[in-house]
Amino acid sequence: MEKLDIVLYPEQGLREVCKPVKEMTDQIDKLIDDMFYTMYDAPGIGLAAPQIAVQERIIVVDVSESKDQPIALINPEIIRTAGKITWEEGCLSLPGIYGKVNRPSDIIVKGMNRDGKMVEIEAHDLLAVCLQHEIDHLNGKMFIDHLSGLKRTRALQQFRKLMNEEQS
Ligand code: ZN
Repeated sequence: MEKLDIVLYPEQGLREVCKPVKEMTDQIDKLIDDMFYTMYDAPGIGLAAPQIAVQERIIVVDVSESKDQPIALINPEIIRTAGKITWEEGCLSLPGIYGKVNRPSDIIVKGMNRDGKMVEIEAHDLLAVCLQHEIDHLNGKMFIDHLSGLKRTRALQQFRKLMNEEQS
């Protein structure tokens, strides 16, 4: 398995709508292994393909504490939403930045698993938040887009400051 470089904001690829995957291939299977490896190493609880500079509709998540409940989804689609939840989100493409985001708390997601089978996943709370966050990435959307204008401006100022400190 290979550790992939994570693309950071404001890279243009993070703002593009990703292409659907036509069929499961060995190459995508390997990519999913590398995405899990990169996500666990970061460490993070979710990663979307555009975050490793692949503009295709693939996400991986694992919100378990024991890190043994990996979920990989290809061409994921949210087909039902209900409830409301506020969660403090972060993103591997915006390291060091957090913000409270409101989303539905209960969702059903349809997609293809790595065996090429169509599956439906019912998700609640953190798993629902994480899946929505990663699916947003496939549509060029980031969690800061859910913040109010002022909060988003502050978060991005803080991010630029952190990045400048890292360079100097
Ligand atoms: Zn993210």
